[in-house]
Amino acid sequence: MNTDSALLVATGVRKIYRTGSVEVTALRDLDLRVRRGELVGVMGPSGSGKTTLLNCLSGLDDIDGGRVEVDGHDLFAMSDAARTEHRAHTMGFVFQAFNLIPVFSAVENVELPLLLVGTRPRSARRRALDMLDRVGLGHRVEHRPSELSGGEQQRVTIARALAGRPAIVWADEPTGNLDSSMAGQVMDLLCELNEAEGQTIVLVTHDSAVGARVPRLIRMRDGLLVDDIRQDAVGRVALPTAP
Ligand code: ADP
Ligand code: MG
Repeated sequence: MNTDSALLVATGVRKIYRTGSVEVTALRDLDLRVRRGELVGVMGPSGSGKTTLLNCLSGLDDIDGGRVEVDGHDLFAMSDAARTEHRAHTMGFVFQAFNLIPVFSAVENVELPLLLVGTRPRSARRRALDMLDRVGLGHRVEHRPSELSGGEQQRVTIARALAGRPAIVWADEPTGNLDSSMAGQVMDLLCELNEAEGQTIVLVTHDSAVGARVPRLIRMRDGLLVDDIRQDAVGRVALPTAP
């Protein structure tokens, strides 16, 4: 176990995409530690490797070198089935595309992952209703995605990501499809879940307004981490990162 409560320890992670004879090195021996309770923003130009970082550190995609430990388990030392199971129990995901099931109501969308890991239907329903309430959608639980605004749909996906009490939530451009006011509300919610409940979140964004308000901001360029800064609560003063 890690004594400094690092939840994620990535060491020397390398990712190479091979398309025909073309190779793209998307992650170049990247190191990253994330402690429990951190909210980490990841910024960088398009193509710098942000999505690859998220996919590889969550074990959604394979790596070509290095090691990733999440919650004390080496992701790539386990079988694919074990990794999928580990992911279902320890990770939640929020993507730019909401990926909600259109014929399901909000509450059905939120409870689905709980049912898939074997939660009893009644507890899954109760937990899903609690989470929808938590994200401010207690009055919309029977609505289908098409009957909700973009911001509301993204709050449903956040409720879904958090319903299983994951150790870590990965969010890839969660505000990318939202106008600035809805994006602000979604960011408020993510920050509040982090501050009030200590939810660990890694948040990819190209929005500098979002980047300015996260307590820790990482910058990527060409598959490398080029910056790792801690910011105060209002995001104005940058402090050096503790080792
Ligand atoms: P970002 O999310 O920062 O825009 P990505 O992680 O999507 O960047 O991409 C990093 C690099 O890897 C880019 O050069 C991109 O073209 C390449 N890449 C991403 N996904 C694939 C893929 N499935 N096959 C081949 N190349 C890819
Ligand atoms: Mg991306």
